[in-house]
Amino acid sequence: MPADEEPAATCPHCGHPFRSEHARDLHVGERHDPTPAERERYEAALETERDDLWLFHAKAVVALGVTYAATVILYMVVLGSFF
Ligand SMILES: [Zn+2]
Repeated sequence: MPADEEPAATCPHCGHPFRSEHARDLHVGERHDPTPAERERYEAALETERDDLWLFHAKAVVALGVTYAATVILYMVVLGSFF
């Protein structure tokens, strides 16, 4: 991250700066031996990550569906103008 940016959180184990507490919580859980409280935050952060991923997939599926529908409609319009 850029040096002039104030970190939102720092790792209590190695002092690494992070843009968000979310990123710090993930780092602590993955790189260090987390305390029970840190472990809880790590799992909560993982949960958030999963939700974001799900939303991303849902949006991708919707976009694909819209593209497919548009293609089908276009086909029908093109075919309709021929017959
Ligand atoms: Zn660390």
